[in-house]
Amino acid sequence: MIKLHDLKKTYFLTKDNSVNALKNINLEIKEGEFVAIIGKSGSGKSTLLNVISCMDSKYTGSYKLDDKEISKKSKRELAKIRNTNFGFIFQSFNLLNKLTAYENIELPLVYKKVRKKNRRAIIESIAEDLDIKDRLKHKPIELSGGEQQRVAIARALVTNPKVILADEPTGALDQKTGKQILNILKSLNKKGQTIIMVTHDLELAKNAKRIVTISDGKIISDEKVKTK
Ligand code: ADP
Repeated sequence: MIKLHDLKKTYFLTKDNSVNALKNINLEIKEGEFVAIIGKSGSGKSTLLNVISCMDSKYTGSYKLDDKEISKKSKRELAKIRNTNFGFIFQSFNLLNKLTAYENIELPLVYKKVRKKNRRAIIESIAEDLDIKDRLKHKPIELSGGEQQRVAIARALVTNPKVILADEPTGALDQKTGKQILNILKSLNKKGQTIIMVTHDLELAKNAKRIVTISDGKIISDEKVKTK
């Protein structure tokens, strides 16, 4: 589904100062995979995630999504590709505090122009799966961290994205709650959801089925996780 070939990304800081954040990245991710991208701070994880999620188009090399070359697409086309293919989960949840949980989950459906009368059933079904149905009228501030992240997962899933991109999804949670969130991601993957998770934490990465390690802008290992 995702194929990166000889991908390079350079940040130009000044006329004669630049950072090669990604160097010759070759990476293929197939439908149904659960991949962790792991690396130290500054290794290039966010840069890679920005490329994969179509936030960044200023790189060289090839990026094919479902066999379509997207490295040369316009910003507008990329935004459309992003909205139809990717769901995002962040460390800090990134919920809108003025909206209720329901309204946060609803937002991607509004952008997707799904009719109001059709939205409720979709939202309630996902909320039921994530055990937050009785929290939907609450605002984020009235929810625990784990509940907020489950609302964020619901928001990511509501448009039925091909890929879930999770950036340190348990980084702001205690261990027990983090584990619950990981179990949710694992069970989504079991049902066929493709997941790419970025983290600096090896223990967390071991929950994925495959670990891609990035260091200094290069992939230095790519291994299947042994099941215990
Ligand atoms: P990570 O997510 O693994 O911490 P990043 O992708 O953020 O790594 O960074 C990779 C390298 O690119 C680092 O050297 C970082 O300083 C540099 N970098 C990241 N973003 C920018 C930017 N917007 N401008 C200039 N350099 C950047």
